[in-house]
Amino acid sequence: MNGSERYLNYPSQRDVLFVLGAGTSFADGVPLQRELLPMILSGGIEEIDNSEIGKIFKEFIQENFKYNSSTNTYPALEAVFGFFDYFIQHNESLSVKYPLEKIATLKEYLIKLIHYVVNIQTDESSTYYHLFWNSIIEYNKNISILTFNYDDLLEQSFKFLFKKHGYIDYCIPLMNYEDLSELKKFNFWVNPRKPISVKEGEDPSAFKIIKLHGSLNWKYCNCCNQMLLTPWDRRIDLNKGKLLGYTYPEKTEYEYRCPLDGTEFETLIVPPSHLKSLQHPIVSQLSSEASREIMIAKKIVFIGYSMSSSDIHIKALFKKVVKPDQKMIVINTRQRDALELSYESISENVEFIYKSFEEVVSDKELMKRILTS
Ligand SMILES: [Zn+2]
Repeated sequence: MNGSERYLNYPSQRDVLFVLGAGTSFADGVPLQRELLPMILSGGIEEIDNSEIGKIFKEFIQENFKYNSSTNTYPALEAVFGFFDYFIQHNESLSVKYPLEKIATLKEYLIKLIHYVVNIQTDESSTYYHLFWNSIIEYNKNISILTFNYDDLLEQSFKFLFKKHGYIDYCIPLMNYEDLSELKKFNFWVNPRKPISVKEGEDPSAFKIIKLHGSLNWKYCNCCNQMLLTPWDRRIDLNKGKLLGYTYPEKTEYEYRCPLDGTEFETLIVPPSHLKSLQHPIVSQLSSEASREIMIAKKIVFIGYSMSSSDIHIKALFKKVVKPDQKMIVINTRQRDALELSYESISENVEFIYKSFEEVVSDKELMKRILTS
């Protein structure tokens, strides 16, 4: 038998919705949000210090925000984005040196610098995400994942499950799915919402991974409004600001452009800010998908996510749909009043577990309880 075509239907209810924050990628060396600006400004990363984008951004910060590297005192990332957003939303210039267009460029530079520093540690595969997926395959595949992380360690760790156990569903129509000659070399990514060819011995499921704040390996074209997934290409050139790709197997570097219209791609990561813009068509589509998954989940499990005050939109997303009979579990490393209160303001039905992501995924009994009880 050669196999057959099958639709990978989703059950109408989800047993567990995992909500992952920076705490889950931290063990693999991906920096936390509060570490990003110190990394960019402290002068420890040569590629940043020697690049056009790095130099121009640092000069702007030195002129507008004071910081002290010897005491490790830096402005908050939200404050810097908030400052940019003020001028952009009010259509105002800061000075002769920093007219409105320059402010918009500087904001894009900071996003590119963040993209760069988050990507530094993501070439290794992750033991902990591997354990996480192992438990899911062993105990319960009816799960979805909502993540706020830009890195793709979660997806890279999925590779060993591909085809036999499942497919990743990013819940957005990717350019990779279009059957056009210009897109031939990107057609390798399987659309899990279409019939899948299943061979004997395979029992695949589709897993929704909703990356609400974007991803390092997503490239957005604001001409055709479509997104290209480049699973292996996450690099960025800090002199010209271009997203880079590499030919296989020669590994020759090239600059990415939209294969359909030649437009330069944009990064798609939503930066932390008190005035976060969620107008982006991809982000608003993902918000609706997240909202539906929250609604149909029997249990919601937050791991390594602090629900900070710059994430009002996340609180709103949950507060609108969470019902009293939905069980919530919050897994975090430290017990803190502020953290408990912010979760309890969403639901009374919360259990707190004070462990790290590494500890939880290494504890098979606990993973079994989370996934099956
Ligand atoms: Zn395009």
